[in-house]
Amino acid sequence: MIFKSSKVNEFRLWGLLLTMGGMALMIVGLAGIVFNWGTIGKIIAGIFMVIGMIAMLGSMAVYFWAGMMSTSAVPLQCPECGKVTKMIGKTDRCMFCKTILTVDRRYAPSEKSDNELASTPNQN
Ligand SMILES: [Zn+2]
Repeated sequence: MIFKSSKVNEFRLWGLLLTMGGMALMIVGLAGIVFNWGTIGKIIAGIFMVIGMIAMLGSMAVYFWAGMMSTSAVPLQCPECGKVTKMIGKTDRCMFCKTILTVDRRYAPSEKSDNELASTPNQN
């Protein structure tokens, strides 16, 4: 998780970035036609338009995937802020307060785990 946000929000952000990137690329590509650079300009425009289209199609796929994931996400009440958030996978962050939520106790941030490890008898 790069942006320290919940997975649903992060996928939405990536979708938005891809859409913006694709549109920016297409605008850059249009400059090749606008400034009349001849054949090379048209080729550059074509290439940028294709890349921009792929980026926008990619963003649609990301949005679709995010939608699919959010339907399979588990809704639960956040213990920190009390709001109902959606959780994807075994660990995720709350959409509102960014608290790490987990169903697996191994990933839970607890001060006990170190002591437990230290006090575990040698089983060999
Ligand atoms: Zn919360």
